[in-house]
Amino acid sequence: MADRARDPECLFCRIVAGEVPTTKVHEDDALVAIRDIAPRAPTHVLLLSREHIPSVAELSDADAALVGRIFAAAAAIARAEGIAERGYRVVTNVGEWGGQSVNHLHFHLMGGRAFGWPPG
Ligand code: AMP
Repeated sequence: MADRARDPECLFCRIVAGEVPTTKVHEDDALVAIRDIAPRAPTHVLLLSREHIPSVAELSDADAALVGRIFAAAAAIARAEGIAERGYRVVTNVGEWGGQSVNHLHFHLMGGRAFGWPPG
């Protein structure tokens, strides 16, 4: 397994460490959830792993609990934000063509409007 220690050059490692101001909506020993600085929907929350993992491409079976924790937190936040009833989207971008701009595992929780499919 690759080294998952904090990367001082990584924006999301710095956010997890509390070095960059954000609006946190949830945190626990596995993840930190913050409001996206440039929201693309009325509710746009990012769920960041505490560990520095570049993307889902680096996950293994050993991460099953982490991924479950992230999705369970997303569902709980969706309920708390009032977007659960009408539905929402949880998405993660991987690499250049996937549209990933920060190389630290994170999932977008978006809701409060209808989304098209497939995404652009
Ligand atoms: P992605 O492009 O999938 O890697 O997602 C990165 C997300 O991080 C984008 O939606 C950005 O708007 C968001 N973002 C970048 N910098 C910050 C920040 N300082 N605080 C909160 N969200 C950020």
